[in-house]
Amino acid sequence: AVPRGIVASAEVEQTYIMIKPDGVQRGLVGEIISRFEKKGFLLKGLKLYQCSKDLAQEHYKDLKDKPFFPRVVDYITSGPVVCMAWEGDGVVASARKLIGATNPLQAEPGTIRGDLAVRTGRNVVHGSDSPDNGKREIALWFKEGELSQWESVQIPWLIE
Ligand code: UDP
Ligand code: MG
Repeated sequence: AVPRGIVASAEVEQTYIMIKPDGVQRGLVGEIISRFEKKGFLLKGLKLYQCSKDLAQEHYKDLKDKPFFPRVVDYITSGPVVCMAWEGDGVVASARKLIGATNPLQAEPGTIRGDLAVRTGRNVVHGSDSPDNGKREIALWFKEGELSQWESVQIPWLIE
C-alpha cells in the first residue's frame, strides 16, 4: 500500500454518512460517530444541518418512483441531521456493514441499526452505497471549504 501521506486526497475513498433526524432526537449522535471513529476511519467533514425538501429529493433521487419516496423525504426533513464525510480504504462498503441492513429488525446485532433501531422508516443513519455515490453525496451536502484536509496522528497505528 502507498503511504497515505503521498496519496492525493481526490483518490482516497470517502463516504457520506448522515445521522437522520431520529438519531439526533434520540441522543444517538455521539454513539453513532463513535462507531466510525473507533473503527479507524478519518472524519473529514461534520455539521448539524436542517435540509430542504429539494435537497432531500435530490439525495434520494434514485428512489423517486418508490411508493415510500414522499415519506422518506418528510422523514429526512423532519429535523436537523448530522452530515459527515468519512475517509479510508474501503470505507464505503465497510460503513455499510457497520450500519447494517436497511430494515433494523433484519440488521445484525453489533451494527448501528441492529443495535439502535426497529423500523425501516426510522433507521437512524444513512451511508453511501458506492464510491461514486459517496463523491456525489459529499458534493451535494457540503460546500467548498467545509471539508478539512488533515492527517490523523493515529495513521501509523492504523495502517502498516
Ligand atoms: N425506506 C423506507 N421504506 C422502504 C425502504 C426504504 O422508508 O421500504 C427508507 C429508509 O429510511 C432507507 C431509505 O429509505 O434507509 C433509503 O432506502 P435504501 O433502499 O437506499 O436503503 P439504505 O441504503 O438506507 O439501507
Ligand atoms: Mg441507499
